[in-house]
Amino acid sequence: MDYKYTSLIISKRDISEVDRIYNCYTLEDGKIQAVGRGVRRPNAKLAGNLEPLTHCEIYVSKRKGLGNITGAIAVNNFLSIKNDFSAISRVFWALSHFDKLISQQEKDAYVFELLIAYLEAMEKLSGEKKAEYKFDIVTLGFLFRLTENLGYKIRVENCANCGRKITAGNENFFSAERGGALCAICAKTERKKVKNSDTSIKLVKIFLKNKISSFSKLEVAEKDLRELKLIWNELINWV
Ligand SMILES: [Zn+2]
Repeated sequence: MDYKYTSLIISKRDISEVDRIYNCYTLEDGKIQAVGRGVRRPNAKLAGNLEPLTHCEIYVSKRKGLGNITGAIAVNNFLSIKNDFSAISRVFWALSHFDKLISQQEKDAYVFELLIAYLEAMEKLSGEKKAEYKFDIVTLGFLFRLTENLGYKIRVENCANCGRKITAGNENFFSAERGGALCAICAKTERKKVKNSDTSIKLVKIFLKNKISSFSKLEVAEKDLRELKLIWNELINWV
């Protein structure tokens, strides 16, 4: 059987002198692996369009086991990201989380769209040579959004434990185990939590409600960015 996939190449792995296995996230079938025969030979035409972080159409011929990639057409090479160390290091960090969070062959058109929107936002930022921390904002925003889309509800409006409204100016906390922000009272009895300011929890709220393409416009202080990273670590360790 022959299949055509709209895909994003996540990673590649050499399996012999000349062959490679590609790990791809596809619109049609979710995460799949396929073999590129002969792609490590010099002048192999396929290899260029199958580099990690390429949005491409791939053609796969499958009988049993993993299929063989018979053709690939690049849709977007994301060259600005690939030429920018700050951007690419964040993108590969995000993709490694993405890869761990996503199960095999669970298709989700919304997640595919989210991934492409994230890469397009990073590509645009790389071209604009914006401040480095903007790469972190867009990346964290994408990851919070992804986690929520995979079914982990993050509560930020109200205390995840008692339901009291999270108010500005008060001491607030975040507990991944409880599923979101905690008021100061509930936080007293919670063992695993991170302290957070109003701003960082407000940022999570913005991430969950707005388009990824708008995240790069956010101005964020270093302290709040640090808190956001702590909240993310707490969340990913729990998930
Ligand atoms: Zn509470």
